[in-house]
Amino acid sequence: MPWESRECRQCGSVSVLSLPSAKDLETYYDTFNKDYDGGGGNLERYAKRYLREVLRFGRGGRLVDVGPSLSPFPNLACEAGYQVTAIDYIRPAGLRPDIDFITGNLNSEKVLEGLTQPFDIVCNFAVIEHCMYPDLACKILSSLCRPGGHIVLMTPEIGTFATSNALGRSGWFCPPKHLNLVSKEALVGLFDRYGVRLVSSARLELNAWRWLARYGCGALEGCVGLMIKKASRRVWEKQRNRRVHKHKGMAMYLFEKRNDRDPMRSR
Ligand SMILES: [Zn+2]
Repeated sequence: MPWESRECRQCGSVSVLSLPSAKDLETYYDTFNKDYDGGGGNLERYAKRYLREVLRFGRGGRLVDVGPSLSPFPNLACEAGYQVTAIDYIRPAGLRPDIDFITGNLNSEKVLEGLTQPFDIVCNFAVIEHCMYPDLACKILSSLCRPGGHIVLMTPEIGTFATSNALGRSGWFCPPKHLNLVSKEALVGLFDRYGVRLVSSARLELNAWRWLARYGCGALEGCVGLMIKKASRRVWEKQRNRRVHKHKGMAMYLFEKRNDRDPMRSR
């Protein structure tokens, strides 16, 4: 695409044309992780919302949060009864002292060195879009998860009715911050390579009103875009390359790692 990216015609995933170096990203996240506010100061509310999803798998067990930055989620999970480990570029300032911290990221398998016991729950909220290689990120997340365990992942929505038809491209694509927008179809395919299957998915918001506003606008933008696309593909493509659409959806996925010891579940 003219906006420095590749867009998958089949599933809508978007990826950056030229990747920054791992070293550049390390420098970038040193600063990023010091003043990240979740993009709107709702870190605390989103952390509570994430916890509600995680609690579906039951309270307790070993949980790892990969890339929390300044989200209070690891602390909340710890208070909710999980044995928590956090993985990131730098140890978050407010992280409870009883939470284990591992320096690492999803751009290198180095983070798996020294992993003696995989985790029951692997959390990855708004992180995979920051990663250099989504395939490698999925591989690492899968390795961190024990067979029969769960991966809870949140990432910007792409390849849906709204994002595929709106007059404009997704504003979630913004290198060097967001390098890859991965569609549901692509995520399912990548995780399948590592024995992880999708259990459920949902569009995320803090409450019903916000949900309706966010996804209602998305549906509207999708409808208007679709009409223009039907009338003139050329006009639609020109506008799509020129502007960014308003809608920014968030997709929440619950994955399960297959337990090969269970013959009914293995493939
Ligand atoms: Zn694709």
